[in-house]
This record gives sequence, C-alpha cells and structure tokens, in this order.
Amino acid sequence: MEFYKDQSVTVTIGDMGKNGEGIGKIDGYTLFIKDAVIGDTVQAKIIKTKKSHGYARLIQILKPSIHRTVPPCPIARQCGGCQLQSLAYPQQLLFKEKTVRGNLEHIGGIQDIPMEPIVGMETPYNYRNKAQFPVALDKNGRIVTGFYAGRTHQIIPNRDCLLGIPENRQILDIVIDHMEKYRIPPYNEANGSGLVRHILIRYGFHTGEIMVCLVINGKHYPHVDRLSERLSALAGMSSIMLNINKERSNVILGKKTTLVWGRPTITDQIGDLRFHISPQSFFQVNPQQTEKMYAKALEYAALTGNETVWDLYCGIGTISLFMARSAKKVYGVEVIPQAVQDARTNAQSNHLENVEFFAGRAEEILPAGYKNGKVHADVIIVDPPRKGCDRILLDTILQVQPERIVYVSCDSATLARDVRYLHEGRYSLEKVCPFDNFPMTCHTECVVGMQRKHI
Ligand code: SAH
Repeated sequence: MEFYKDQSVTVTIGDMGKNGEGIGKIDGYTLFIKDAVIGDTVQAKIIKTKKSHGYARLIQILKPSIHRTVPPCPIARQCGGCQLQSLAYPQQLLFKEKTVRGNLEHIGGIQDIPMEPIVGMETPYNYRNKAQFPVALDKNGRIVTGFYAGRTHQIIPNRDCLLGIPENRQILDIVIDHMEKYRIPPYNEANGSGLVRHILIRYGFHTGEIMVCLVINGKHYPHVDRLSERLSALAGMSSIMLNINKERSNVILGKKTTLVWGRPTITDQIGDLRFHISPQSFFQVNPQQTEKMYAKALEYAALTGNETVWDLYCGIGTISLFMARSAKKVYGVEVIPQAVQDARTNAQSNHLENVEFFAGRAEEILPAGYKNGKVHADVIIVDPPRKGCDRILLDTILQVQPERIVYVSCDSATLARDVRYLHEGRYSLEKVCPFDNFPMTCHTECVVGMQRKHI
C-alpha cells in the first residue's frame, strides 16, 4: 500500500514512542500519531511520509482505549509541557518501565535486566517545586505568560499549571499586572528588544519558602520597589531576585543575579537534610520522589562507613551529603560555581565535615586528579544532564576501578549507551530502578547499580 500526504487513514494504536506519541501500523507501515494513546482506534491524516514510517495528525477517536482518561488540564493537548495526560496513570508507569527496559536491551545490549518495579506517585499532580514561565506579547499586543507549545516558542497562556504549585497563579498575576500598569515590555525573541524574558518561581515543599526571580534583558527593572512590596506580602515569600540575561539565545538564565528583597537563596529539606538553593543551581524538581530516589542510590552504593565516594555532577551536594553520613569521605564535582558555593554552605549547615567540593567539569577534574595520583574511589556516583557522560570521564572511571558505580539518569537512552561502555569495561549491571519524577510527561529518572567484576 502506498501512503501519501493528506491521506486519511484508520488505525489502531498498538504502542507508544519515546515522546509519548501513539504508534500504529498499517500493512507493516509505521505511523506516529501525537495525542493518540495505546489501545485507541483513530482516524488520522498523514502529514509527512518517509520510507519506513510516517507522521499523522489525530482527527477523530473512533474507539477510545480503555486506558484513555479525560485530561484534567483544559489545554493539555496544545501545551508542550505534558505528553501523557490522556493516558491513565498506571499505564503511564508501564510505558515508562517499558521504555527504560527497551533502551537497556537495545542500546545497552543487556539481556535479563535486573529491574525493580517503577516507583510512581500517589498523587501525580502539583509535584513541581520550580516553574519557568516565558513572557511575551500575543498577536493583540497583550502580555501573556504560560508554556511553550510543543517544539515551538509560541506561548500557550496558562497560569494554573497542574504540575506546579497553586501559588504560581497569584505570583504571575501580580507580575503581569505590574508590567501592564507601568508599561514594561516583555522580551521579543525576534529582535532582542523588550525587558522581561522569564518569571522563575521556586518553592520549598518542606519549608513553604518561595523565591521569585525575574529574568530580564537589561540591568534594571522599573518600579521594582512597588513590585517587591506586593510580592513580599504573599505568605511564604522569602526571596525576590533579578537575573540579567542579555544574550540572544534560548538559555533561560544569565550569569548575573541581583537581590531585590529577602535572602539570595531559599531552603528546602530532603529527608532530614536541609539545603540552600540559589536561582542558578540545579535542584531536583520533584522533592517527594527525590527522597525515595536518593535512598535507592544510597542502597546501591552499599556503604559501610569506610568508603571514599566521588559524586560527579553533584549540583548543590544533595547526593554527596546523603552519602557522607555513611562514608569515610565524599568528593563532589559540579560545573556551576553558585551550585558549588551552595554545596559548601550545605555541608557546613548540616555539620558534615567529611565532604569536599570541586568546581569544574567532571570530565576534566577527575582525569586531572587521577593523573596526579590523587583519585582513589570505592564508589563513584554520576548524575549527568540528559546528554550523559563524556567518553573521557567513563574511561577515567574504568581506570580508577571503583568497586561500585551508581548511575542516576534522567535519560534512559544515554544511560543505556554509557552502561554498555561500562559493561564492556568489566562492570556488571546489578540493579535498575526507574522513578516517575515527572508524571504526565514522557520523562523518567532511573538509578542503576553496577559492580566491578573480579577476574
Ligand atoms: N546530583 C544533583 C544534580 C544533578 S543534575 C542532584 O540530584 O540534585 C546535573 C548537574 O550536573 C547540574 O547541577 C549541572 O550543573 C551539572 N553539570 C552539567 N555538566 C557538567 C559537567 N560537565 N561536569 C560537572 N557538572 C556538570
């Protein structure tokens, strides 16, 4: 059968792709259909064809899947933030588990994966402690804020995202109202004019502290005192900041941050450890799941109290401090200077003295230290961004020969690639545990334990 653009087809969805899209087959030809869920029979219109597969737009659900549910958010389909709201939560978990397993088998080349069941959430909404709202003018010249539509920078207006905290709404209303009142223009990506780029909001689930940071394309924010007066009246407000970003790029935060009101960091707690967090620092967005995930990382590290541990990509030292209580010594490495500063403060305020932090790239610090004979490690933990670990870093880890490697990952495809390399370097895959830290989206966290083979 030949397929062509604009052709209308009827297809049953038998699988789901890594971005949460439905996958249906007609005569062996694969079609990817956004917004269709596994089990649906749909009418779709082909928008693009390639040799072995094509893409189609969902036109009508002819027979809904038993796993289909009504998304609680009215703009779930347009907004690029959520991909899985139409799929019942237990089915989301199965989808994620299957994706992790598939990547470890196909990319990682490992059979008989020792997988523990995925750890999901009881209430999979309102879990995010951080939100970054872009600001722009709509086509009628009104200031809008919300989320980008999938793969574009078109803003879908929304101040009530169900993944975030309800307080976001009030904060956004105040900022947008202030901008309108004083005619403060939002940033215009097309020509680099205008002032306000993003509104960053952070919340401490345990402490109730709130930070608001306006990302601006300039040094000053007009009538900032009036704004700060209104924001600081909100319960929990503890920090109001300006971040200066004059770059013509997609990177949200600039390098410089100034304090407007309150303190320059907010604090939150994971387990019984307390952390200071700067606006630039990475902090896991789902603290409830993070606590369970760190406990798993600690379990896989199997510390007895005598070990030297390296925590690479350590952020503000969260995993480092969790490990420090059960290890002899922990070294952390992190590239963002403010995060390293936070990590040192956090070690002090939690009275942990057996930790030391280095600022720099993991793939530079570890090889350089090893060359100078300064690196010994019983356990190495890595928690890299989505692109995974640098090859040079993996080579150094293999040279250092720790007894165990704990790999924490937010992208199971790059995780699988790196696990394969470590596996070939004589580390066996002992355990894998996926965590659903991002319900309603297609993202998954994963903790992996590897053990050196003695031969
Ligand atoms: N383990 C921490 C942070 C994980 S996120 C936690 O659970 O909170 C990944 C971190 O790696 C971020 O803080 C990021 O700034 C840092 N990072 C990114 N590239 C890096 C590199 N090449 N070397 C060291 N750190 C890096």
